[in-house]
Amino acid sequence: MQAKRDIVILGSTGSIGLQALEVISANPELFRVIGLSAGFGNHKLLADQAKKFHVPIIGTSSTEFSAELPAGVSVICGAKASPEIASIPADIVLNGITGSVGLASTLSALSAGNVVALANKESLVAGGELVTSFGRERLIPVDSEHSAIFQAMLGGKRNEIKKLVITASGGAFRDRTDLAGVTIEDALAHPTWSMGPVVTINSATLVNKGLEIIEAHYLFDIPYSQIDAVIHPQSVVHSMVEFFDGSTIAQASPPNMKGPIAYALGYPNRVERATSPIDWSKPHSWEFRPIDNQRFPAVDLARRVGEIGRGLPAIYNAANESAVSAFLSKRIGFTSILRVVSNTVEKIEGKSLSELRDLSDVSALENDARTVAEELIKKEGSSS
Ligand code: MG
Repeated sequence: MQAKRDIVILGSTGSIGLQALEVISANPELFRVIGLSAGFGNHKLLADQAKKFHVPIIGTSSTEFSAELPAGVSVICGAKASPEIASIPADIVLNGITGSVGLASTLSALSAGNVVALANKESLVAGGELVTSFGRERLIPVDSEHSAIFQAMLGGKRNEIKKLVITASGGAFRDRTDLAGVTIEDALAHPTWSMGPVVTINSATLVNKGLEIIEAHYLFDIPYSQIDAVIHPQSVVHSMVEFFDGSTIAQASPPNMKGPIAYALGYPNRVERATSPIDWSKPHSWEFRPIDNQRFPAVDLARRVGEIGRGLPAIYNAANESAVSAFLSKRIGFTSILRVVSNTVEKIEGKSLSELRDLSDVSALENDARTVAEELIKKEGSSS
C-alpha cells in the first residue's frame, strides 16, 4: 500500500478546489490536506474546509481574515499568501487558481521542489518558459484535455507521436450563427461542463481552446504545427494522441473534472471509482467536426501568438482576462471580447518583445496589455 500523500490545494473554494476536496474526502486513506489557499471572499468556506480536513495552515488573498479561525489553524493574508502556501513541502501542490495570477504560486511551488498538479493553464500560457525551466517531469496536468493526452501518451513512444488532437465542446454558441446579441446568461450556460465563470466564457469564445493549445505546447514540448483542435460536442473523448503508424489513442469518460483531478493526485496510480465510467448499456454517438475559424478566430490567434512566443501568449491571456471581466460586468458585448484581444495583441506585437526572464517581466508585460485592452474596452463600450 502506498503512503498517504500530503496535498496542498490552491484555490480551494473554486470549482477545481471543491472537487479536489471531494476526491480527497472520498479517499482519506490516500490523501491528507496540509495547506489551503483561496482568493478574495468566502472566508467562511475556507475556514470550514480547514476544520473539516484538519489543515494546519491556510492563506487568503484578502488583507485580513474575516471568518472565525478554527482552533490550531494559522492564516497568511495578502497577495503573497498563495505563493507561500505553495512552497510548503508537500507531495503535490494542486494549483486550481483561475487566471495568470496563479503563475506566482506555480513558480513558488516548483522552486521549493514541489510537484505541481496544474489546473491553472494560465501559468503555462503567461510563463511557459519560466515554468518548464524547472523540468516538465514535475508538472502533472489537471486540465481534462491535457490529462487525456498525458494518459494517451503512455500508449506509445515519444518519438512516435505524430500529433496531439485536443477536443473542444464548442461552448455555449457552438451551433449559433449570430453572436452579436448574446447575453451573459447565454454565455454562462455551458452545454456539457460545469465550471467557473471565466473558463465558461472562455469556452464560449473558444479562447479556452486557444489557451489549451499553448498549454499543450509547453507541457508536452510539441511544436504548434503538431497540435490540432477538433469540436466534439459530447465532451466524452477528452483528447487524443495520433502516432506515426496511423493509430490514434483517445481517453474517454463522462465530463467530470474529478477524473483528471484524481489522476493527477494519485499519479502514477489510478484512484478507484474517481468518476463514473461510460454506461455502455445505453446508446451513444460521438461526433467530431472541424472548428469554424471564421466564427471563432480565437484558436488561430492563439496558435499565431504561440508560434511567435516572446510574451505574446501572456498578452493574449491578459487582454482576454480584461475583456472577459468587462463582459461579465456588462461593459462590452460578447463579440467585443475577441476584438479587444486581437487588437491588443496587434498593438503590442509591433513593439520589440524580448524573452521573459522572470515573474516581474511577465507582470510588466501583462500590465501593458491590460492598459491597452482597457482603452479598447472603453471604445467598444462607447460604440455599442
Ligand atoms: Mg480544458
